[in-house]
Amino acid sequence: MAGLCEGGNEPSGSLKAIVIALWFKMPHAVAKPFGFTERMEEVQVVVVGAGAAGVAAAARLMERGVKDIVILEAEERMGGRIHTVLFGDAVLDLGAQWVHGEVGNVVYSMANRYGLLTASETEIIESPYIESTGNVVNSDIAEKIMGILTLIHKAGDVLLKDFKASLGQYYNAVFQRKMEEEFSTSHSKLGRYFLDWFQKFENSIDGSDSWFETSGRGLTEYWDCEGNLLLSWKSGGYRRVLDLLMVCINCTLSVEPRFSCTIKS
Ligand SMILES: Cc1cc2nc3c(=O)[nH]c(=O)nc-3n(C[C@H](O)[C@H](O)[C@H](O)COP(=O)(O)OP(=O)(O)OC[C@H]3O[C@@H](n4cnc5c(N)ncnc54)[C@H](O)[C@@H]3O)c2cc1C
Repeated sequence: MAGLCEGGNEPSGSLKAIVIALWFKMPHAVAKPFGFTERMEEVQVVVVGAGAAGVAAAARLMERGVKDIVILEAEERMGGRIHTVLFGDAVLDLGAQWVHGEVGNVVYSMANRYGLLTASETEIIESPYIESTGNVVNSDIAEKIMGILTLIHKAGDVLLKDFKASLGQYYNAVFQRKMEEEFSTSHSKLGRYFLDWFQKFENSIDGSDSWFETSGRGLTEYWDCEGNLLLSWKSGGYRRVLDLLMVCINCTLSVEPRFSCTIKS
């Protein structure tokens, strides 16, 4: 059986953050819960966060025989940026939704062996763009602005290698210049809408509130895995990843995370 619990396979791909599992070894006393210490408790390992990385770390440790683990989670649910909710008879992913690519993508490797994935019919680029007023944006103009954003994104591979400022500073500076080259002074308001939307898109990938808080150079560390970039789950939504991570060849993750526990630095 599956995935991260098989020894030695380092995860990679769009969930590469998994390898930066937020666990650390505390051979002696830790507080329970942190910040509200009434009594001390000894555990071998504290895993901070019950997102995919934390669950993967705990499962891998358990599979290798470490039983004395506690997972502390700030929220009241598991999953972190994976957040699948019920929506009528279906499920809705409020966080991660697609499996982006196949080669070197640990999520693909885990899910595909059980036939859990299917090609998505979604084509983001060809969707119409609609302003908050309900006005449908002229498709030629939308295409040009999206072209500028795509160009800036691709140029980042080179331009951001030694860039010292934030992702937001990079996009704002280059976008403004490219918009003026393309449209002179027209469509500047529409351009800002698109830039704002694009910021939200980037923030959702980086897990940040603002792209002025994320490193510009960090964009160069992201890569696309080969294969279908928009695979979706046949059923159950992205939450299935957590199920896959928790069920290992010799262990079922039996550690119930302690919720509403925020670790303070
Ligand atoms: C809207 C959105 C859409 C996305 N779409 C996709 C997609 O389609 N495909 C894809 O592959 N990826 C997608 N992603 C990215 C993917 O969800 C993340 O890369 C992945 O879930 C990150 O997992 P993680 O465990 O590293 O971090 P997180 O999911 O952020 O988990 C970290 C956990 O640690 C907890 N925590 C943090 N600090 C503390 C603390 N001090 N004390 C206690 N607990 C703490 C948090 O509450 C959280 O539960 C998307 C993300 C978002 C937000």
